[in-house]
Amino acid sequence: MAILTVNNLYKNYGLIKALKGVSFSVPPGSVFGILGPNGSGKTTLLGIILDVLKASAGSYKLFDEEPTHLHRQQIGTLLETPNFYHYLNGVQNLKIAAAIKQRGAGDIDNVLEMVNLEQRKFSKFSTYSLGMKQRLAIASSLLGDPDVLVFDEPTNGLDPVGIAETRELIKKLSKSGKTIIMASHLLDEVEKVCTHVAILQKGTLITHGHVDEILVTDEVVETAATDMHQLYAILQQYPGSKKVYAHEQHIELSFTAGTASLEALNRYCFDNGVTLRHLRLRKKSLETKFFELTQTTK
Ligand code: ATP
Repeated sequence: MAILTVNNLYKNYGLIKALKGVSFSVPPGSVFGILGPNGSGKTTLLGIILDVLKASAGSYKLFDEEPTHLHRQQIGTLLETPNFYHYLNGVQNLKIAAAIKQRGAGDIDNVLEMVNLEQRKFSKFSTYSLGMKQRLAIASSLLGDPDVLVFDEPTNGLDPVGIAETRELIKKLSKSGKTIIMASHLLDEVEKVCTHVAILQKGTLITHGHVDEILVTDEVVETAATDMHQLYAILQQYPGSKKVYAHEQHIELSFTAGTASLEALNRYCFDNGVTLRHLRLRKKSLETKFFELTQTTK
């Protein structure tokens, strides 16, 4: 069973191609990150799934079925900062939200507890911190106890405390059994919060899958010797390395995380007649990895 299956979706706004044939599926219980820079098509994709926008071509399914409003009732959404009333308290604001959504009027105490706002539920919205305001917005998305939550950039515009609170809450909601689909332009956020990721760039899906597989940090070993040509020649034969790059001052080998061994490499070079004068292990940053991933489709 998949919560959402997207099949070859296209969306054009006039001449702008916002989605160019995107396909992936969201497994139940996952925190599924749609990751991409601004303008990559994340909001467009969420808009189509939530029936706010019409796709130009392609299709999608919710819970393995043709989507209807009944399926969408099982989805709680947080698409943009909701308009809460500043002079009303948390409970009063949620009562209004429940009336507008026509669901969840009996859930208000539960959802406030879920987002850890019960202590402040009778305080005016205007007295809330940024993180509390966002937690109230998430509480509103929980009205009616939906199984699936869709959040567009849930930490945008928050201060560091608010960001941390919101991320913790997303993890807690996931533990409670909800499936969460969230758009983010922050690699670090997806790595910290999500179990799965789909990376979008300019409307094209670059890659998707388990975060641990997609965003795994490579290990990079820098080497140098007096005769760089000879070193380069033997390193190209070195088993286990994914790539060999020649830089001006050193030669780099990249390895899947956890597989680089400096001892083994040193011995290999020595056995092949090269004495290393430089040998250093470093992790490739996720930013570099992301940059590489998004470069490959250009
Ligand atoms: P952001 O994080 O900045 O919202 P995004 O990844 O969510 O970016 P979208 O908002 O889906 O991306 O936009 C994808 C592309 O479609 C962009 O080039 C954008 O300018 C364009 N676009 C979005 N909405 C419209 C619209 N209503 N009319 C014309 N072009 C649009």
